[in-house]
Amino acid sequence: MKQLQEKIMKDGKVLSDQVLKVDTFLNHQIDPELMKAIGEEFANRFKDSGVTKVLTIESSGIAPAMMTGLELGVPVIFARKRKSLTMTDNLLTASVHSFTKNETNEISVSKDFLENGDKVLMIDDFLANGQVVLGLKEIIDQAKAHLTGVGIVIEKGFQRGGTMIREEGIRVESLAIIESLQNDQVTFKEEGTSI
Ligand code: 5GP
Repeated sequence: MKQLQEKIMKDGKVLSDQVLKVDTFLNHQIDPELMKAIGEEFANRFKDSGVTKVLTIESSGIAPAMMTGLELGVPVIFARKRKSLTMTDNLLTASVHSFTKNETNEISVSKDFLENGDKVLMIDDFLANGQVVLGLKEIIDQAKAHLTGVGIVIEKGFQRGGTMIREEGIRVESLAIIESLQNDQVTFKEEGTSI
């Protein structure tokens, strides 16, 4: 997605060979116009998948997931990283190791919002080692719902998550795939080439 690649080139900050900071438009301040375009793009790519729910994880997945749900006309659920006082039981849970924070969180979704037969589109801001995707997949499996695909705003193609998840037969659509962050440079994988 050209608009997103241009935004990453203009505003993204390479923190290391492994980590990109995009807090001017996705991870802290949010660019609503860009989120709208991202939502339209995901909705277009998954429009024939019969999606009944969009699932993401707090907090940075919420903005792109929300715009996707709006376009598809389906509810958006976000997994919580900490249990809220009002969410005490009836939970689907999984453990997720955070790539950026280097800590393990128990993530949870209420059983009230995901059910047997739901066709779930998963959305997240970044794909690195695939731990969030696996954790959310575990929650979808517990609910006996079906994962129709994964929509990622920025995939880091040099980390193992994308390959691992595609090898499991899961459809992954990434709007920008970064090939390398070496030498403080963002290099994108050209569309149509394999990772
Ligand atoms: P994974 O679970 O695929 O290893 O990592 C994905 C999660 O880690 C995303 O939800 C995202 O919040 C965070 N993440 C991974 N890599 C980056 C990165 O380079 N920059 C930022 N801002 N977040 C990242």
